[in-house]
Amino acid sequence: MSEIAKRLEAIKNTLPSHVHLVAVSKTHPSEIILDAYNQGQRLFGENRVQELLEKYELLPKDIQWHLIGHLQTKKVRQIAPFISLIESVDSLKLLKEIDKEAAKAARRIPILLQVFIATEESKFGLDQTELSSILTEIANGKFPNIELRGFMGMATFTDNKEKIAEEFSFLNSLFEKYKDSNSFNLDILSMGMSGDYPIAIENGATHVRVGSAIFGSR
Ligand SMILES: *Cc1c(COP(=O)(O)O)cnc(C)c1O
Repeated sequence: MSEIAKRLEAIKNTLPSHVHLVAVSKTHPSEIILDAYNQGQRLFGENRVQELLEKYELLPKDIQWHLIGHLQTKKVRQIAPFISLIESVDSLKLLKEIDKEAAKAARRIPILLQVFIATEESKFGLDQTELSSILTEIANGKFPNIELRGFMGMATFTDNKEKIAEEFSFLNSLFEKYKDSNSFNLDILSMGMSGDYPIAIENGATHVRVGSAIFGSR
């Protein structure tokens, strides 16, 4: 077994059965991804469109690709036909564009809304006001070609485990609030990376996005 295969297995063995592993393969070449693929991994996360397109061309077509990084509206068209989940929807403008390109690609595109939960400065993620206004628009049927599946969030980069747990727990409370409301049917709460995924799982994550703990440092 390769080192990557061993690390992947070790992580998978610690995950409860309801938690899905998104293997974050950004910056790592296709051969490395294939190593994880041959170990049974099918869910991969990338944060850049150009890199994702190159890997999509080269790698097996039964891979489910998640876009996890900030997405520019002008690049939506390129991934619309095949993207499995866009986890990083952080503006109304982007949502409109995804809806439009999904229609052109004759499909509904699954998305997560990225919510800002950290206290440190970060450029991306919806605040509470933006989140509730976007949810209202979705609930009113404004975007028939997107399928809202849940929320994504990133905790503050800190050693303070209580703080990280608070941030994840806050996102979980939002998820629980909207999950089974009349307007939505949410099933994905994506939170936790290599450094904090066990805390995310304790606080309700259904998907964890793990990169360096599988593939090594970037
Ligand atoms: C890079 C990245 C990850 C994975 O980070 P690791 O610390 O390598 O596990 C998870 N989520 C997002 C949004 C990322 O950009």
